[in-house]
Amino acid sequence: MPVTFKAARGRSAFGLAALLACSAMMVVSCAGPAVAQLAPATGVDLPAQAKGQPPAWTGPAYRQGVVSVANPHAAEAGARILEQGGNAVDAAVAIAYALNVVEPQSAGIGGGGFMMIHLARSGETFAIDSRERAPAQATPEMFKDKSFAAASTSGLAVGVPGMVRGTAMALQGWGELDLARVLQPAIDLADQGFAATPRYVSASCNARALNYPETEAFFCPGGLSRVAVGETVRNPALAETLRTIARDGADAFYRGEIARGILEGQARFRAGVAGAEPGRMTQADLDAYLPALREPVVGQYRGYTIKAMSPPSSGGLTVLQMLGMVERFPLGDAMQGFGFGSTRTLNVMAEAMRLAFADRAVWMGDADFVELPSRGLVDPDYVALRSALIDPDARQPAALPGDPRPFEPGTGSVVGALDTGEVFSGPGGSTTHFSVVDKWGNMVSYTNTIESSHGAGMFAGYYPAGCAEVACFRSLGFLLNNELTDFNFTPAADPDPASYNPGANDVAAFKRPRSSMVPTMVFDAAGRPLLAYGSPGGATIINSVFNVTLNLIDHRMTLQDAIDAPRLSVASAGGSVSVDPGAPLGRFDGFPQASLDGLRALGHTVGAVSDIGSVQAVYVEPQTGKQYGAADSRREGTVIGLPRPGGGR
Ligand code: GLU
Repeated sequence: MPVTFKAARGRSAFGLAALLACSAMMVVSCAGPAVAQLAPATGVDLPAQAKGQPPAWTGPAYRQGVVSVANPHAAEAGARILEQGGNAVDAAVAIAYALNVVEPQSAGIGGGGFMMIHLARSGETFAIDSRERAPAQATPEMFKDKSFAAASTSGLAVGVPGMVRGTAMALQGWGELDLARVLQPAIDLADQGFAATPRYVSASCNARALNYPETEAFFCPGGLSRVAVGETVRNPALAETLRTIARDGADAFYRGEIARGILEGQARFRAGVAGAEPGRMTQADLDAYLPALREPVVGQYRGYTIKAMSPPSSGGLTVLQMLGMVERFPLGDAMQGFGFGSTRTLNVMAEAMRLAFADRAVWMGDADFVELPSRGLVDPDYVALRSALIDPDARQPAALPGDPRPFEPGTGSVVGALDTGEVFSGPGGSTTHFSVVDKWGNMVSYTNTIESSHGAGMFAGYYPAGCAEVACFRSLGFLLNNELTDFNFTPAADPDPASYNPGANDVAAFKRPRSSMVPTMVFDAAGRPLLAYGSPGGATIINSVFNVTLNLIDHRMTLQDAIDAPRLSVASAGGSVSVDPGAPLGRFDGFPQASLDGLRALGHTVGAVSDIGSVQAVYVEPQTGKQYGAADSRREGTVIGLPRPGGGR
């Protein structure tokens, strides 16, 4: 798919006429005094879902755009940009920056992500990869023998941040508005403050906030105390950083004072912690960072076309493998012993996950650095071989990786491969996914992260000469990622044909660590875009997207039920089954106990977890063009559809 930067510019697709049309529409149905300015920071009326009341997003369909975001303030930022004439790309960039302010522990300019874009007019679907890269001095053994706790709170884990150049690429290529305009909602939120939501209160001051004193001082003011729900949270340091970017452009992030803050920030590590080490990033690494345009991986499932994030994410390939493996089973048919939540359905899902994760551990990583059998992994014949290993009424004792290389066009022979037995971080406070559709039908599905909760734990910033007091810290207001801990800690490369392993996810200079983030879109048989969705949750992201896809296509749930339903996850070949009981505001109450007992009887270890993922989705009905959104009350999922009822907020 020849998407070229500039050649497929949004302006040519939407044009001035469209912009003017939106302006005219705004006079009638969007504009209003409350739209143009932020809600007051204190005493703000939190959206219903943030107060534990029934969600309001199950209401009418929309036609002027929908945003579905894991935080109400950031959803508001995106909706306003749409109301100001921005397209889905503009709104997505505004949301990403706003999330840095209101969900600072999850994502932001100190990290990176994947922004999948579908252009209505040209029909192109592609992704901007702003994934962090390893610095030039990174080496395959740099995490060897380190604990995750030590490595992930060390400067050594900080990858070169990508979000700022990635979002600039998106705006320049396909946006309607300039950087300063789309950053304004985030700047306002950081300057004027926002009312702390329940999730901000519970997630911002946790154990990972305590690893560096400046971080603790910001998130847990006065020791371990937390802000109260509704209390105003300001971040003037971040406001200043964002103003600099808005005024001087994206490159200002990668040089001058902001670069100094990134480099001095990542030079830190927790003294006295075994294995803790400073980072190796230099100014040259910041100068060299470039986002990449990627084609999604594409597959078919029961007549639908699924487009999902390609390497360096493992997400798309793994989701497509799992869908391909389960397609031969009538998962939606209770009459045949399947149906939602039955033992057979759950077992088939768990077995497909185990097999796909076994392949993922060996074969997936940054395809810019390792030759990956990307086509072989999802080749129908290869997937059929893998699927043949699944017995709906049994648990295979060992789920071993396969060898997709003979199925890769133009490659060699079959040899064995070994599972690296890697450890996965589960869901938690990190990462965020949102989806947007605009009035023209352009769609964005964007997952953004700083990896763990609070990233590596330290703010970008520095101490001026002569003062090491926390009060002297010149904070730049954003946390640095620990994305490099997504690499293999122990190098797996093994050239021996008998035990061959490509080391697809071993650390290397300039390489991007393998991700699980999988912004996804679904198209109908005529190629019309239907859905955009994705999730946070580390490796479980892949399984959340898989669960929701089955809920929609096999179990024919509404979008909201598909998100609210209980989820099942196995995130490694030998791993246990985790089950999530369903979103707190949904109508589900877990999988049937008899089904879980059935899984145990087959030999699975089954454990309960409070939540797996947080899915935000938009849907367009192709016949009518009506737009819908649904969001996840596992976090503070918020949908805003336009025009707003009553013409404004
Ligand atoms: N760093 C993870 C990835 O790229 C995402 C972390 C999370 O979702 O918690 O797969």
